[in-house]
Amino acid sequence: MNINAIVPLSKARYQRCCECDLLFSLPPLSRKQAAYCPRCNAKVVLGRDWSMTRLTAIAVAMLLLMPFAFTEPLISIRLLGTRINASLMEGIWQMSSQGDPITASMVAFCTIGAPLTLALSLLYLRFGSALGMNLRPVLLMLERLKEWVMLDIYLIGMAVAAIKVKEYADIQMGSAMIAYLTLTLLSILTLIHLNLEQLWERYYSQEQRAGNPETLLVCLACHYTGFQDQRGRCPRCHVPIHHRQPHSLQKTWAALIAAMVLLFPANLLPISIVYVNGARMEDTIFSGVVSLATSGNIPIAAIVFIASVLVPFTKVIVLLMILFSIHFKTPHSLKTRIRLLRLVAWVGRWSMLDLFVISLMMSLVNRDQLLSFTMGPAAFYFGSAVILTILAVKWLDSRLIWDAHATGNAEYAD
Ligand SMILES: [Zn+2]
Ligand SMILES: [Zn+2]
Repeated sequence: MNINAIVPLSKARYQRCCECDLLFSLPPLSRKQAAYCPRCNAKVVLGRDWSMTRLTAIAVAMLLLMPFAFTEPLISIRLLGTRINASLMEGIWQMSSQGDPITASMVAFCTIGAPLTLALSLLYLRFGSALGMNLRPVLLMLERLKEWVMLDIYLIGMAVAAIKVKEYADIQMGSAMIAYLTLTLLSILTLIHLNLEQLWERYYSQEQRAGNPETLLVCLACHYTGFQDQRGRCPRCHVPIHHRQPHSLQKTWAALIAAMVLLFPANLLPISIVYVNGARMEDTIFSGVVSLATSGNIPIAAIVFIASVLVPFTKVIVLLMILFSIHFKTPHSLKTRIRLLRLVAWVGRWSMLDLFVISLMMSLVNRDQLLSFTMGPAAFYFGSAVILTILAVKWLDSRLIWDAHATGNAEYAD
């Protein structure tokens, strides 16, 4: 039998929603059909898939493009009679040597580490399955990797950096731009069409055992609905499954409080420092936005304001609101809370934009005494706060919101 011919969900099966824990029966679906949770409208079945052959071809193309896209110049400028090139690697290197290596490694992970891991994982799946290797860790990692591939955000970062530099110099597109654009497009297409559920079905197909459907549990790691095995693990991916994620609230609170503390130095200390003819000029996140706006770049100022100021603060407020609603079992506005949580989970990664801009500026505007640009101490605090808020959203078991809502409603009715 051809292994590619397995049609997913050829018969009905029970499924629990990963977000609200509703148990429902999933009818047989064709490859292109998507399925949504009847209660919270979360997407349960993706309805897209690309064959492993196509994904492998794309992974190879991405790996071939990476050396050019990462090391060759993306933007080049003429500054004080000299030509300066900025490449992704150069930016990270400057950030590491003039600023600090931790902030530089945050940028490196989101722009080089995650895309590289994505391409290598796809190749591992293709050849590992032929060689009978354990594919579970790679499938589990791919699920978590998706939001850390930030090539698209770096692209917007380039546009912002170009507009900021335009005040000092003429800008030209570098030779790696085409390779970078193609790489970004391929990574976005891969992430849209990568259907992990179907890959799990193909490599580790599971029959749903007979039993009381009420005791079925959904695995948050691989989204399989089934009974725990003898060791309390998911039968498909072997990660322990629980009725609710253990310590979800404690972990979310810890990450959120740490992020809130870090947001103070992130916004009060200078994030970038410019030296013009020996004079030092400091900019905080907010004053940077204001100076962009006053120099007439309103759209760019708006993008930076949304990504660096509005999104992190909205995220903190939404998470606080949801955590309090769980603790106080609020019966009201459940739909709004769920929508807000999905929104902040979706836009959260865009906050890394400012760090990418800084990394590019550091490699472009670097003429020693005459004109130079370097990062301020706020960059590290800001990057850490953004990563912590992304983790806080990840660690929050959204089923707890529904539990609290149900108990709240019951108490309210009494
Ligand atoms: Zn649901
Ligand atoms: Zn699982």
